Order: sequence, then C-alpha cells, then structure tokens
Amino acid sequence: MYDIIVIGAGPAGMTAAIYAKRASMNVLILEEINYGGQIANALHIENYPGERNISGIDLVTKIYEQLQELGVSVIFEKALDIRKYDSVKYQNIKTVVTANNSYEAKAVIIASGSVNRKLGLEEEERLTGRGISYCATCDGNFYKGKTVAVAGGGNTALEEAVYLSDLAEKVYLIHRRDSFRGEQLSVDELKEKNNVEFVLNTCITRLIAKERLNAIEVTHVVDGRKRIIELNGLFIAVGRMPENQNFAAVVRLDDYGYIIAGEDCHTSCDGIFAAGDNRTKKLRQLVTATADGAMAASEAIQYIRSL
Ligand code: NAP
Repeated sequence: MYDIIVIGAGPAGMTAAIYAKRASMNVLILEEINYGGQIANALHIENYPGERNISGIDLVTKIYEQLQELGVSVIFEKALDIRKYDSVKYQNIKTVVTANNSYEAKAVIIASGSVNRKLGLEEEERLTGRGISYCATCDGNFYKGKTVAVAGGGNTALEEAVYLSDLAEKVYLIHRRDSFRGEQLSVDELKEKNNVEFVLNTCITRLIAKERLNAIEVTHVVDGRKRIIELNGLFIAVGRMPENQNFAAVVRLDDYGYIIAGEDCHTSCDGIFAAGDNRTKKLRQLVTATADGAMAASEAIQYIRSL
C-alpha cells in the first residue's frame, strides 16, 4: 500500500513526487511511456526561473535525476482506471489499475498531461510516420533539404518552423487565422527567413498521398480558394488535448475533457487530486505545472494525515 500514487511523470507529476517524498510519504509514479511529458520536446525553454536557456529534455532529465536520488519508485505502466470502494472499511483506499497489475494508495494525484491534437483529416493516422509528424525535434532530420509545412499558430508551431527552416529547403507555415497565438519574437524571426512562406487564413483540407504524403490541399477561409502545396513532410502543431478519459468515472471532467479542479488541485472525489495541463486552469505553462505538483502533493499529504 502506497501513501500516494502519482499518475504521469511530466513536470507536474515529478514535482508532486519530489514534494511528497521529501515529506516522508511512500510514493509511486506510474508513467505510460517515458519521463518528461510534452515539454521534453521543447527545443529551448527561456521562461523557467533559474534556467536562462535549456532544452526540454535536459530540464526534465534534471528533475528525473532528482527523483531517483530521492528514491521515488517509478513503474512504466499505463494507468487504465482508478477504483474506489463504497464500504466504510475500504473507503480510504484507491486502486490504480494497469494492464497487468493494480496498486493501492491512500491518495492519487492525476498528472496525466495531454496528447497531440489531430487535424482530423482522412488518412492522418495512416500517414503518421509516412510524411506526417507531430514533433520537429524528433523527425526534422529526415527532411534535410526537402520541403515541409508546419500547421498551427501557437508557440510550438512557431518554434518548429524556426527549427525546420535551418534544415529544410522550404517551410510553409499554415495557420487558420492571420494573427498568431505564439510569441511575436518568433514570428519576427520567421519573417526574416528567406525559405519560410506564411500561408495565413488557411486550413488544410486534404492530404494527398500514395505510400507517403506527397502534397496537401489548403483552402482559404475567407474566399474559399483552394491550392495544392507539394511537400515531403507535414508537421502538425495545433495544440494538445487532456488525457483524462480513463478517469472520467471517478472525477468530474468539463466539456473539453479537463478535470474540474481549482488552484488547490482538489477534484470532485476526496483523495484524488489533479495537477498540470490536464486540469481546468487559465495558464498552461511549465511553471504552472510544477506549481500544481507542489500544491497537489501538499493537499494530498494533508488529506492522508486527516484520515
Ligand atoms: P496552442 O498555444 O494551444 O496553439 C495551438 C494552435 O493551433 C493555435 O494557433 C490554434 O489556432 C491552432 N489550432 C488548434 N486547433 C486547430 C485545428 N483543428 N486546425 C487548425 N489549427 C488549429 O498550442 P501549442 O503551440 O502546442 O502550445 C501549448 C502551450 O505550451 C502554450 O501555452 C505555449 O505557450 C506553450 N509552449 C511553450 C514553449 C516554450 O516556452 N519554449 C514551446 C512550445 C509551447 P487559433 O490560434 O486560431 O486558436
């Protein structure tokens, strides 16, 4: 029996585990794939206090090493369900179920983060890895000297376009509006590049492919004009979606799938807390994710001590 099970080893989950372990809690982290979460793919982080410029993977590795030094247990299994019991005898126990095991704890912190949002186009799934990618740092190297497009208008899309412009021969930046959600500094940097073409007020409406993606059809949102862009790769960076479906039976979600929880990270279920990008909040940033981790751990500890 653990005191606290943390679901997810992104910045929120790892911070929660550090705080809980330092308060002498018996903590387990369950992580589906690898530590770090989405920020592990960020090329440069320049807005995290104390780190003027660090890559995402370097930062999360530092946090992970801190966890290991503290002796936090990490098991790489996906949490598929959380079960709680009605009987008075067991009402303070939560069971987290994975494919082959189940683990018990007095409190659970869900820090499950989010997954890449898809464009929802026909064949998008089949062409992933065959010309479609969701990560320029991971796959950019395959497109050296080739033609690529980036879809999106947030910081991820802008950052990926900057990165790819140093590798690819030509980069199209395709965004559905004519103003960007991401930082103006990156927009200005892209405007300076000779090999970057802005394709604004435009949506991707069709993927054209045989074995691999060869071209895309785009449609202007104002006049409906269509255009075919021939390319080798399409990097989709249109945001993320929370990964909470497995927990919908125990905690309340909002209409967009985020766990309903305030700044104290309490969910609709006693003893289950939510931390990071998967909960309802105004600002989803690395610094707010780690802040959530600390808050969720502190609340979980208080909850356990009150049992
Ligand atoms: P985001 O800020 O949510 O931006 C998503 C973009 O995709 C928006 O421009 C949105 O368009 C567009 N979009 C959404 N759905 C679409 C669809 N179906 N079709 C076409 N376009 C669509 O996501 P993000 O860029 O991944 O960033 C997530 C968070 O991480 C942000 O807070 C960001 O600042 C942060 N981040 C920070 C760093 C860093 O500090 N180095 C790097 C990357 C990301 P609209 O604008 O029209 O809604």
